[in-house]
Amino acid sequence: MPSIYIHFPFCIKKCSYCDFFSITDMKNTDKFNKSLIKEIGIFTEKFASKPPVDTLFFGGGTPSLMKPEELELIFNELKKHFNFSNTLEFTVECNPGTIEKSKLEGYKLLGVNRLSIGIQSLIPKELEFLDRIHSPEEALEAIGTGREAGFDNISTDIIFSLPGQKVDDIRYTLENLLKHKPNHISAYNLTYEKGTPLYNRMQSGKVNKNDDEVDAEIFEIVSDTLTESGYEQYEVSNFALSGKKCRHNLNYWNGGEYYAFGPSAHGYFSGTRYWNRRNLKKYFDCIENGLLPAEGSEILTGRQKLEERIMLGLRCEGLNITELNKEFNIDLILKNRELINQLINDGLMTNGNGMLKLTRKGYLLSDEIIIKMCEGISEIS
Ligand code: SF4
Repeated sequence: MPSIYIHFPFCIKKCSYCDFFSITDMKNTDKFNKSLIKEIGIFTEKFASKPPVDTLFFGGGTPSLMKPEELELIFNELKKHFNFSNTLEFTVECNPGTIEKSKLEGYKLLGVNRLSIGIQSLIPKELEFLDRIHSPEEALEAIGTGREAGFDNISTDIIFSLPGQKVDDIRYTLENLLKHKPNHISAYNLTYEKGTPLYNRMQSGKVNKNDDEVDAEIFEIVSDTLTESGYEQYEVSNFALSGKKCRHNLNYWNGGEYYAFGPSAHGYFSGTRYWNRRNLKKYFDCIENGLLPAEGSEILTGRQKLEERIMLGLRCEGLNITELNKEFNIDLILKNRELINQLINDGLMTNGNGMLKLTRKGYLLSDEIIIKMCEGISEIS
């Protein structure tokens, strides 16, 4: 069943590593809410009936800057045009330092049932390096506030492999985070995205990226610590306690459809991928003229769909070979026999019950493995 993603493009302060579209000038938040409602109306006017939706995700930006009343306006508009499932997974991303109990209680009353809290690190100098707006204490308090407001599904994000990060540093963050038992943890390797202050600092030599061995060692500690603590690694960067996998992300990773609203949001439905303008003024101009704010769209070719399926399957819960072969009329194993045998011999992949899966060791090399698998089917267009 499809998902909906809403992009709320405002933040209190830009984090040094962040490549997501967001701005710190809040003067247009009201105008944004109204435009978003209009965008939803324009997008859905051609629908003959209300499409079903299983997950709703407010990301950004910092959607936890929204008051419950603002969230309610948007949700009410969505309800006019979409048929939400009775078991809707409704997530709001939260930045510690922007939430208080009454706000979260308001979200809960609306039907929000999952919080995704950006903790990132529990070490003051690391949070400073990332330009986060909160302290380690505030980050942990946010989990407690979420619990007090009645949330039993709380996810937390952390970032690892900061320059100069020691094994003890990541262990410290993990151990202290685990004391608060988040239901889900997303753990991302720090990336240096072009155009970010962090990237510029690296280019000018002020910051040195860790080498690959250090990255690998820290990733292994993250993966081992979390799995030994009862979390299932169900995607390269995602770990969940029983029953708490993120259904919204699983839908993306399984190639499901998703509608997306707000500047820079990316959507995919009826075989077409589209992406909205990454500029608030241009976004507003489109909506004021009764137009959708899409900057571009593309119909995925068979080759693109196959590559995506291989990438998402291997990063996530495995590739169902029979289904994939049938859908794309290929024999993936035959095309990649040598490579697959090698990966299995090296303990990087398993092939059982018709599923090709990367092992935890394989997750470490997932990018290279996916490229090689796709090269093996290069004749498919
Ligand atoms: S709070 Fe989130 S969206 Fe905003 S700048 Fe930081 S990382 Fe980016």
